[in-house]
Amino acid sequence: MFIKNIEVGEIFIPLARPFKTALRTVYNVEDIVIKIATDTELAGFGEAPPAAVITGDTKGSIITAIKEFITPALVGMEIDDLDGIFRKLNTCIVRNTSAKAAVDMAVYDLYARKHNTPLYKMLGGNKSVVETDITISVNPIPEMVADSLDAVSKGYRILKIKVGKEGLKDLERIGEIRKAVGPDIKIRVDANQGWNAKQSVQIITAMEEGGLDIELVEQPVPAHDFKGMQYVTGHVSTPILADESVFSAEDAIDLIQNRAADLINIKLMKTGGIHNALKICDIAEIYGVECMIGCMLEGKLSVSAAAHLAAAKGVITKADLDGPSLCKTDPFPGGPLYEENLIYMNEAPGIGIEEVPCLSN
Ligand SMILES: [Mg+2]
Repeated sequence: MFIKNIEVGEIFIPLARPFKTALRTVYNVEDIVIKIATDTELAGFGEAPPAAVITGDTKGSIITAIKEFITPALVGMEIDDLDGIFRKLNTCIVRNTSAKAAVDMAVYDLYARKHNTPLYKMLGGNKSVVETDITISVNPIPEMVADSLDAVSKGYRILKIKVGKEGLKDLERIGEIRKAVGPDIKIRVDANQGWNAKQSVQIITAMEEGGLDIELVEQPVPAHDFKGMQYVTGHVSTPILADESVFSAEDAIDLIQNRAADLINIKLMKTGGIHNALKICDIAEIYGVECMIGCMLEGKLSVSAAAHLAAAKGVITKADLDGPSLCKTDPFPGGPLYEENLIYMNEAPGIGIEEVPCLSN
């Protein structure tokens, strides 16, 4: 079975509510979707969001990378030659991790379909359910408290609170939310690069002294500020999770060896797909570091590829895969079942998505 063509389309999914972080406000999911066609009836599907403020990838750059670089490199390759495919995919163009992620997951989807096995089992996993947190957007405090209580009433046991816009005011946000939800709900805090190193230590120390019981703080300082990450990690006892700082396996090695983070957040759009994400899993495992798996604002297709990876790897102990739950509609039939905080893995082959509306069948 060989790769005949890669078809590219665009999909539009309205969000239930605007998504707000320290970096941006988003109203809709507008993703690139792809289909790898073969000389047989089997095809593989992939998806990538243009999260330019994080990855630098836009709709236009994703489409161009796939059409002009990746497709010519992969057409004609045997699907069983996974090693060769991933080598070509990762060397035909530098960066462009979102385009690579869409193609990478479609290759895995296809490979697992060929072997008539759900992707997570193909990757060696046996976890049939993955628990995710849900993100609470940055808003005025009463709104964030109400959103948190609403999430808890739906069954979520882990909240990821977006902060990083107002320094010490963020402390008040978390305090009010903790008071409202009580001690049994886990709270993760994501500053999305919104603080500097000293400010981070001041805020996190105050959280610790206030008994706010924060599970982890994600990306307190700017992505490139590895020294800042190291300073914060060394000066607080709350675990620090690196997100925007880690794209590649090399970044993971650098951060872990310099003790510049306690945890690594893997996202397929940063790594360029599952193949490179598996390398980060291996590195983390070697160093005894746990990983979270996260997503951008993405539809169910690409988030499900991440869910399959989470179900396959024990080193991924935390999941932040709430993308589909934040969407108003789901255009992708099939795949894992998203029931609030629990994601039930599909037993159908591959990622499990049966069709992608804007692509040919
Ligand atoms: Mg983050």
